[in-house]
Amino acid sequence: MSKKPETLAIHAGSRLPAGKAVPITPAIHAGAVSWFDSAEDLDGALDGKDFVYTRIRGENATLLEEAVAALEGAEASAVFGSGMAALRAVFDAQALQPGERVVVPADGYGATRALFKKLCDTAKVELHPLKLSDRGALERIATLRPRLVLAESMTNPLLAVPDIGALAKAAHGVGAVLLVDGTFTSPALQRTLSQGADYALHSTTKWINGHSDATGGVVSGTAARIDPVRGARVLEGALLGPFEAWLTLRGLRTLPVRMKAHSEHALHVARRLREDRRIGRVIYPGLPDHPDHATAKSMLTGGFGGMVAFELANGGRPEAFRFLESVKLCRPAPSLGDVTTLVMHAASASARRLTPEERAAAGIGEHLIRVSVGLEDPDDVAEDLLQAVGAR
Ligand code: PLP
Repeated sequence: MSKKPETLAIHAGSRLPAGKAVPITPAIHAGAVSWFDSAEDLDGALDGKDFVYTRIRGENATLLEEAVAALEGAEASAVFGSGMAALRAVFDAQALQPGERVVVPADGYGATRALFKKLCDTAKVELHPLKLSDRGALERIATLRPRLVLAESMTNPLLAVPDIGALAKAAHGVGAVLLVDGTFTSPALQRTLSQGADYALHSTTKWINGHSDATGGVVSGTAARIDPVRGARVLEGALLGPFEAWLTLRGLRTLPVRMKAHSEHALHVARRLREDRRIGRVIYPGLPDHPDHATAKSMLTGGFGGMVAFELANGGRPEAFRFLESVKLCRPAPSLGDVTTLVMHAASASARRLTPEERAAAGIGEHLIRVSVGLEDPDDVAEDLLQAVGAR
């Protein structure tokens, strides 16, 4: 039966001939819905056994999950449309009851704290911010008896490095679950599940993707822990789209080699900054005078990473803003993990959602600059930063 153009336009060219070729780079599966010859296969696909509807399970998302799980040494991973969506799904999967407690880093990412405050308020759960790299935090966890402890493997923006093994022991001792946000370190530097974490989470927007062209998040752990988190994703619709998953997987291919180079470059830049009198404190976990240097040496088995922070010796916000406007090679942008060096004023960006009192308690001053050291020549980066410090 010959078909009319309207029908042909819709149905012709919709199925590839069967073949044996395996592309080196996976295809982008943009289709949001699939159909099946067999109704039984369709039925199974709706339980997640095959790909039928991208919100439930997408081809590119699944490939990225496989790659992250392999890097984390995890049984399972679930990817999300953003790091925040991943954090929310882990929180939701805990089904916390009124009166229960959650610990978050007092010196961590401001938006995470704001999200957890909102979620805890709604669930009538108590939120306790603690500086988790302080030894006293372990005793506080023992007395607070929380259900969930969230730590950052390296805090945003002050680059404190908590002992994940010790935190896991303290959390598990009171029956709490330990969720580690490893966004600043990535699985190339630190595999927190092997150190005792129950969930290893990352904003893939940063180092894992590495090129600032896709927003995403991922959580890894045992299949039993990831199942309910994936369930929350399916119901909440927090999926990672195929283009973003594809770009993120392409970026991930070079994550380990990038992180080696970022670590080398960051150490070089930190040393150059330290020589300059116009700069006060230089914070880099790879420097021997970093307060958590010994912990960082045992936690960050793949290198100290690409993040450096420093304080301008004189001045506050106006001087910090002038610095941002004076860089010529580095980019003033509120993110990290790119091949390009990014600089940021912490108080007005990553810590924007904290009150001035919370920022002061965390030690985040108006003169603090955060640098995500890229893959340019490190002397070119250092010279650009130093000329911007001197700009008037
Ligand atoms: N966790 C940390 C430590 C971050 O720095 C960020 C973003 O800056 C997030 C989570 C949130 O990630 P996303 O922006 O992908 O939602």
